[in-house]
Amino acid sequence: MKRPAPRFDDPRADPPIDPYLPANGNRGYRVSRYELDIDYRVASNSLSGTAHITATTTRPVSRIAFDFGQGLDAGKVRVNGTRPAKFAHRDGKLVITLRDRIDTGAALAVTISYAGNPTPIDGPWGEVGWEELTDGALVASQPNGAASWFPCDDHPSAKASFRISVTTESSYTAVANGVFVGKRVRASRTTWTYEQPEPMSPYLATVQIGRYEQRQLSRSPVRIMAATPPHLRTLFDRDFRKQPDMMRVFTRLFGPYPYDRYTVVVADDTLEIPIEAQGMSIFGSNHCTGRGSYERLIAHELAHQWFGNSVTARRWRDIWLHEGFACYAEWLWSENSGGQPAREKANRAHAGLARESQSIVIGDPGPELMFDDRLYKRGACTLDALRRTIGDRSFFVMLREWTDVHRYGTVVTEDFIDLAGRYGCPRGFWEPWLYRTQLPAMPS
Ligand SMILES: [Zn+2]
Repeated sequence: MKRPAPRFDDPRADPPIDPYLPANGNRGYRVSRYELDIDYRVASNSLSGTAHITATTTRPVSRIAFDFGQGLDAGKVRVNGTRPAKFAHRDGKLVITLRDRIDTGAALAVTISYAGNPTPIDGPWGEVGWEELTDGALVASQPNGAASWFPCDDHPSAKASFRISVTTESSYTAVANGVFVGKRVRASRTTWTYEQPEPMSPYLATVQIGRYEQRQLSRSPVRIMAATPPHLRTLFDRDFRKQPDMMRVFTRLFGPYPYDRYTVVVADDTLEIPIEAQGMSIFGSNHCTGRGSYERLIAHELAHQWFGNSVTARRWRDIWLHEGFACYAEWLWSENSGGQPAREKANRAHAGLARESQSIVIGDPGPELMFDDRLYKRGACTLDALRRTIGDRSFFVMLREWTDVHRYGTVVTEDFIDLAGRYGCPRGFWEPWLYRTQLPAMPS
């Protein structure tokens, strides 16, 4: 007789990890590493892959679940070398029922082979995840698109190391996060392998496939690479020439760059907005104008390597810790490159916010408003107000302590409030800025 699985470890009965994305993330284990072998055919948008997932159980489990997009089908599944009792793929979850219960603290080696036509995941923020381009593919997964291309524990708090191998037609270049390990050409197909040793949230994992030329733009203070369509080279070189200077300014202000290298990819399609991935930023062909039109966004995406990618909000309600900081970094770049000082930028943004509807609480904006422009601007104004309150010296020492203490980790807003408290910021400072809709005045 088959007994029903106990309710305590039924992944479907678990409370959500994050109320902003209640369907994402899973309990019962912690992933420490993903090794993904992806084979992709550009013309047919067909992907087959194998995911080797190393994890540790955090409670006794008889079932485990992974986030897994509906465009893909799991073929073979193995847990610790043996076939599970069964697995089922429904509602964006791959639920694996084990043959035997596994105790807390045990190692899990899960191998999932899968195939399908990856499709982006639809949500209130548009389509995210694996996306076909006119002649290639890109992945931009914020906030919940990772499951569109691999089975995962898709939550920012679930960081792990990655190795990503991509095989595709040899006329394309494939770029993924981390250090390029090697390339193997077999007949008409090439395998590109990348190793990302620093912990990475699944939404920041990416693959970029296109007819790109890869170049090293600078070696110091950090290796900066570019993968761009050859016909955009001249415009790109003009628009992105200040990146080494930005890197120098940001490493001085924010502390050491968190990764081995920084790669900028320009897709040969227009993109509404650029997007960050770990160690990488992805721009559209429309962002290459030759007139430096998007310098602000180039600084913004670079700043996410510290704020968002290395120091990551543990829950989406704290998204201002990514976007407010990246927006403030735009102003800091301006201030440090002969442009308007951040204080003036803040005053202007504040005046703009004062004219808009004051209906957002940036410390808990709700999922619908978490990428609202007012959150970016007000978040940046909050930081400028903090800087005015505690003074320049304390502010920048504090910023570097923030990126140092929480390097590769996850944080909540209270962590920042506590840190600022140690630099002399009164606790009462935060309530009006973060937790009320009414916009406070800028301190003089
Ligand atoms: Zn951003």
